[in-house]
Amino acid sequence: MLVLYLLLGGNPGDMSQVVPSQPQQELSPEVKKLGDERAEFVRVVLADTEDVWNKLMQNQYKEPTLVMFSQSVESACGIAGSATGPFYCPGDEKVYIDLSFFEDMENKLNAPGDFAMAYVVAHEVGHHIQNLQGTADKMHQLRQQVSKEEYNRYSVMLELQADFLAGVWAHHAQRMKNILDENDIDEALNAANAIGDDRLQQEAQGRTVPESFTHGTSAQRMYWFKKGFTTGDIQQGNTFQDPSLR
Ligand SMILES: [Zn+2]
Repeated sequence: MLVLYLLLGGNPGDMSQVVPSQPQQELSPEVKKLGDERAEFVRVVLADTEDVWNKLMQNQYKEPTLVMFSQSVESACGIAGSATGPFYCPGDEKVYIDLSFFEDMENKLNAPGDFAMAYVVAHEVGHHIQNLQGTADKMHQLRQQVSKEEYNRYSVMLELQADFLAGVWAHHAQRMKNILDENDIDEALNAANAIGDDRLQQEAQGRTVPESFTHGTSAQRMYWFKKGFTTGDIQQGNTFQDPSLR
């Protein structure tokens, strides 16, 4: 079965039906340069996540592989198209970062800024942590045992925990390396706000269907990122036991 974790509220079942290769657009030198800068930034953020998680997990951390793509990519979870956005595939333990998604964040989702990008990378790395902790396996089993609506609730808990872990990363990266500029946390919170299920659904279809939420509302996504950032305490991110999410 296809198991992958997306940043946005897509239906993973759609993924195998994505037609892979639209011909790549020619990129102007400026756009290409921007792409190179983004790619370099993503590499730096990933390296920062490795430093933090190696430390927090006392060298029990197994580093994920980074795959950057634009338009489409093949993974152990299936073929992803540009509509998929960034994702993590537990099957091959790779973090897939769609560079063109950052343009969408800036232009369509109104979530610009380097730390908005860092949040995206750290969220996917959060899914990798969950995979190492066995949560991905549990989700896989649950999928066959519970109703779709109930599974969606678990999915929200999983996604909010990935947001929390992104916040924990930012907390420790700041302490270890002093990486944050003044507006960085606001950029991350703005991005979390922009990709809440309620907001995306409202914008796409003019109404919200809470039982179809898979990633949490804007308020929840901001709350859990912020909780991770404020506490830096991995023990406080048990979204699966949080009464407000049950
Ligand atoms: Zn996710």
